Amino acid sequence: MRAAGRPVIGFGAGEPDFPTPEHIVEAAVAACRDPRSHKYTPAGGQPVLREAVASVSGHPIEPSQVIVTNGGKQGVYQAFAALLDPGDEVLVPAPYWTTYPEAVRLAGGVPVAVNTDESTGYLVSAGQLEAARTSRTKILVMCSPSNPTGAVHSREQLEEIGNWAVEHDLFVVTDEIYQHLVYGDAQFHSLPAVVPALADRTIVLSGVSKTFAMTGWRVGWMTGPKDVIGAALNLQSHLTSNVCNVAQAAALAAVTGDLSAAMSMRAAFDRRRRTIVSLLNDIPGVVCPEPQGAFYVYPPVRGLLGRGRLPRTSAELAGFILDEAEVAVVPGEAFGTPGYLRFSYALSDSDLAEGVSRIAKLVREVS
Ligand code: PLP
Repeated sequence: MRAAGRPVIGFGAGEPDFPTPEHIVEAAVAACRDPRSHKYTPAGGQPVLREAVASVSGHPIEPSQVIVTNGGKQGVYQAFAALLDPGDEVLVPAPYWTTYPEAVRLAGGVPVAVNTDESTGYLVSAGQLEAARTSRTKILVMCSPSNPTGAVHSREQLEEIGNWAVEHDLFVVTDEIYQHLVYGDAQFHSLPAVVPALADRTIVLSGVSKTFAMTGWRVGWMTGPKDVIGAALNLQSHLTSNVCNVAQAAALAAVTGDLSAAMSMRAAFDRRRRTIVSLLNDIPGVVCPEPQGAFYVYPPVRGLLGRGRLPRTSAELAGFILDEAEVAVVPGEAFGTPGYLRFSYALSDSDLAEGVSRIAKLVREVS
């Protein structure tokens, strides 16, 4: 629609609207001019970058326990491919990031959704996980701060879930890519740091995309026990070899540099978070919980469905809003929970206000 000249406002994309901070870009420019960066690196990544990632991981690991991946996304697939045998079950709290069940299936596993909703702040409990556990359960997936809900698990909640996973000998794949994007009183805690007994059964996924506005550079990482990392490294070496050498130099500058640019972006997200929550709550039929992390809100929109000319499902509602108001949002169906819409607030303050006001106007006119 944009290519056809229509002024679509996009709440769909999960990426910061800022450019990559200057000191990171400069490191990449310098790397481009250094012939050593024109070569392959070891498949697991530049040794200095693996060391840097190990040193910021928050719990004791060696550089050999780190693989630099093509974005956090490659780590998601490699973790499942390394761990799963055909038919193994993976507990995936829902709403979930769309990629998890697909990557589980691609690796021969069976994703088992464990539903949460706004009544518990979209936070899964050990009790719910236990109710979904079977003799085939092998992995639990955690994502805190969460895409798509922005929910952040407290230390106590992580402790309870981590101890439950230890008790049942499960592996945990914990996606911590939004670790620096928490707001208000919320605090990020890394699962293996909170439950050290779980460290040799936990694969941590992260990367530079979200914190440093580096989605296009494609650098992430996975860390974990040596045998799992060894298997994932074999796989990566045959799949893609190493991540772009220049992009690794940029990621090194990001990981070892100061966080001031990242914190300024976080302050902008925080402001937009409060704005969007308040604007959405002004639309009759929408109740928008205030998220504590990442850059998404995930309001239930069941109060809108079927009212007047408004469609009956959230998938159709997203299509209707796109057609009628030229605003793109992602329906809850994409995250395993119909009846919701996900809005990314990583867009400019003015687009944010204009986009929500278009939806409010549409709702007023047709419901
Ligand atoms: N994990 C989560 C929860 C995400 O939302 C994303 C991106 O949307 C990723 C991982 C992967 O990001 P990337 O591959 O850009 O590092």
